Amino acid sequence: MTGAVHEQFAGEAHLLQNYARAPIEIVRGEGCELIDAQGNRYLDLVAGIAVCALGHAHPAITEAIAKQAATLVQASNLFYHEPAGSLANELARLSGLERVFFCNSGSEANEAAFKLARKRAYRKGESNRFRILACEGGFHGRTFGALAATANAHYQEGFGPLPGGFDHVPFNDIAALERAIDDTVAAFVVEPVQGESGIQAADPAFLAAARDLCDRHGALLIFDEIQCGMGRMGTLFAFQTFGVRPDVVTIAKALANGLPIGVMLVDAAASGALQPGDHGSTFGGSPVPCAAALAHLRVRAELDLDAHVLAVGAVFREGLHALHERRPDLFDPPRGRGLMLGLPVREPHSAKAIADGARTRERLLINAAGNNTLRFVPPLVISPAQISDALQRLERSLT
Ligand code: PMP
Repeated sequence: MTGAVHEQFAGEAHLLQNYARAPIEIVRGEGCELIDAQGNRYLDLVAGIAVCALGHAHPAITEAIAKQAATLVQASNLFYHEPAGSLANELARLSGLERVFFCNSGSEANEAAFKLARKRAYRKGESNRFRILACEGGFHGRTFGALAATANAHYQEGFGPLPGGFDHVPFNDIAALERAIDDTVAAFVVEPVQGESGIQAADPAFLAAARDLCDRHGALLIFDEIQCGMGRMGTLFAFQTFGVRPDVVTIAKALANGLPIGVMLVDAAASGALQPGDHGSTFGGSPVPCAAALAHLRVRAELDLDAHVLAVGAVFREGLHALHERRPDLFDPPRGRGLMLGLPVREPHSAKAIADGARTRERLLINAAGNNTLRFVPPLVISPAQISDALQRLERSLT
């Protein structure tokens, strides 16, 4: 143990250096703003990376957390309890997928989905059916299985050998998927809108073809809605925007508006694949995150957040398009849907440098996703005035 250390930022001396943190220390959040240790207020279009849908410190979430924390924090999955039960019922009702497994993160939700797909085949006596197909440019998490599904050399480098049986097809390429899928495929996993690779939406025809191919070959269709789900498209689930019903949906990020939670939703026909003892999680479905998620679902319905997201998402996109037209030297046309938008930056300019400039010059928080793209995943409650403020700040920061 080292002695006293001088730190400019909390934990600087001892936090593992696996993140490229910006040199600011956040102490508080309020709505769409974050406040740093010096009292500077930042307009936050990152929202904990597509997490705080209702903004920071929403009173209904705070109250639900406090009340649940004073009642029951952990009971284990050896027993039933109301928060997990009510949340499972509510998610099943809202999604139309009948069974719910709770865990603590997006990666874990995907691990559960891959394990379910393999165990389903095993239970049917199909020992050759173990392959998981995923898309190039996709991101499914950092644990070993999720990483094997993530076709990105940058994330995978140096961690091999990764679990086998994961193969990749080009995104939005129906013919390639048709060539790759056969009776050895347990599941095909896809993000309806790829987030980490720079906001790339699936072609609805690609998802419909995937549904059909999975049905023909007996494979499960898994939608990873960890980033694009939970209202970001203007529907609670992204599959509702794309009009294709998958067998399994994974969600996480925004569900509990900031508390750790992950969920795998499963169609009834596939849900028997996991039986008692096959999979589990100590903290999965614990009462406090479930209570926060229930409060989130209640408030988003009261606010009619889907209509709001569609309206302000269109305004935001138009604003980004106008910015591209004024600065074609810097930006290509925007991508994305709802409040999951990307603005591609033209070489030799750098999205990371533009995001740094927006933060330091204009106290606007945005981040750079893959492929040199600015990513905008603000709180879903963001107002038209805040969007116009954000666009002005971004443009001013460029000069
Ligand atoms: N899938 C997608 C689409 C994601 O965006 C992420 C997180 N960026 C994950 C999976 C992994 O989630 P987590 O970081 O909660 O494990």
